[in-house]
Amino acid sequence: MAHDETSFDDDSPREACGVVGIYAPGQPVAHLNYLSLYALQHRGQESAGIATSDGERITVVKDMGLVSNVFNDRTLAGLDGHLGIGQTRYSTTGSSSWRNAQPVYRGEFQREFALGHNGNLTNTEELAQEAGMLPGTITSDSDLVAELIANQIGHESNHNASDGRELERGLVKILPKLEGAFSFVLMDEAHIIGVRDPNGFRPLCLGKLDNGWVLASETPALDIIGAHFVREIDPGEMVIISATGVRSIQPFPVERINPTLCVFEFVYFARPDTQLYTQSVHHARVRMGQFLAKQAPVEADVVMGVPESGIPAAEGYAKEIKIPYAQGLVKNRYIGRTFIAPNQELRSLGVRMKLNPLRDTISGNRLVVVDDSIVRGTTTRAMVKMLREAGAKEIHMRISSPPYRWPCFYGMDTGTRSELLAANLTVQEIQDYLDVDSLAYLTLDNLLEATGTNNAGFCSACLTGDYPVDVPVNLSKKILEESMHRLEKPAEIQQEELSGGIQQSFSEIHE
Ligand code: SF4
Repeated sequence: MAHDETSFDDDSPREACGVVGIYAPGQPVAHLNYLSLYALQHRGQESAGIATSDGERITVVKDMGLVSNVFNDRTLAGLDGHLGIGQTRYSTTGSSSWRNAQPVYRGEFQREFALGHNGNLTNTEELAQEAGMLPGTITSDSDLVAELIANQIGHESNHNASDGRELERGLVKILPKLEGAFSFVLMDEAHIIGVRDPNGFRPLCLGKLDNGWVLASETPALDIIGAHFVREIDPGEMVIISATGVRSIQPFPVERINPTLCVFEFVYFARPDTQLYTQSVHHARVRMGQFLAKQAPVEADVVMGVPESGIPAAEGYAKEIKIPYAQGLVKNRYIGRTFIAPNQELRSLGVRMKLNPLRDTISGNRLVVVDDSIVRGTTTRAMVKMLREAGAKEIHMRISSPPYRWPCFYGMDTGTRSELLAANLTVQEIQDYLDVDSLAYLTLDNLLEATGTNNAGFCSACLTGDYPVDVPVNLSKKILEESMHRLEKPAEIQQEELSGGIQQSFSEIHE
């Protein structure tokens, strides 16, 4: 997403899309898609789209904005049919423009299909070069995948008569070439197809309606339309839904299957009412707080969470340490993740536009403040200042994940390495920068244990620098260069360093 100079953002990692696919003869599939997308709005707020088919033609409606802005009775009325897919997008590759809104549609060679993507390919450039595509002809990794599939279908169409399964066969040919993170939903005039990459970075689940099937990024998208959860799609699995039911195939070589679900789905990205690896995300977050309390206890009067995602961990922390939990910050519910402040003066109010302190909870008290992560630290610092102004006697910051040190290449936007506070500073330096009395992060071992999954397989690359799938060569070179040089730090820290100096090297970052 582009951030202009007048925008204030909430300094959280950003998701990269929610997807849904529904096959339900006799049911209002466009409306069901709409409701499911509504339940996935937290995964992307830039654009939304739905494609449906009546068995003859595919119709696509998509636009910039929230699901509720893009769709109304009029736009939904134009979406006929008994099968459809939907997508809500936050861009991590490709620009934030209508052209990149999804579903992506292709309609050549008498075959139509549409595609929705959650994730981020790591070999987009190589694939485009291999396919002889000119620079600029592809607008995003999702666009590239659609182009590769369309070309494959076109190639087949020249040789064989149509049996209606060109999309399935095209995918089986193209999928093994893709690297990185991808949970796809696709459709042609008669099938809904779901695919999860061999690592299963992004979630995708299967649900059952009375007379149909649903694929969705998260289980609340099933709940909202009365579908029953059946199971998660396995890493490396492709499912094909049609009039004959659900078929499952394995298009990837078995040696590539290596489950590494993004651990930040548990920490922050997924809704609390989602189930991942059969575990409740909410309860996992409460356990993260409990582990954090055991790991870093402190004497205090009140435990409070930073709304909204810090709250379950704060409850867990309070329960474990037997200190009262109280609401100390009220969130303005009607503000988006990013909003535009018209001038610098208003922008400096930043965090106050989003959070307001409850003085009765704060004044004269020693606070434990629990949040799920610190990315750039700007919002946390402003929030701490606000709590001090509201009369906090002490502020002990507790974070329910380890320090976020490495950028994500698998579909989360966290900014560059130089923007990540913990990539540049030690924990003590971060404590000083935030102006808190103490600071502690949950360890990776405790985080993984708190998921309750018996370590079913996770990516934690942004915490460890250990990337389960190779990152693009040009990007990894850039990371190395950034790490070898003195990193950009917040202006205040740079000032402080003039008298002391903080050395940062590649090896230190690995420690
Ligand atoms: S690098 Fe971090 S944010 Fe990205 S997929 Fe891995 S755990 Fe998730």
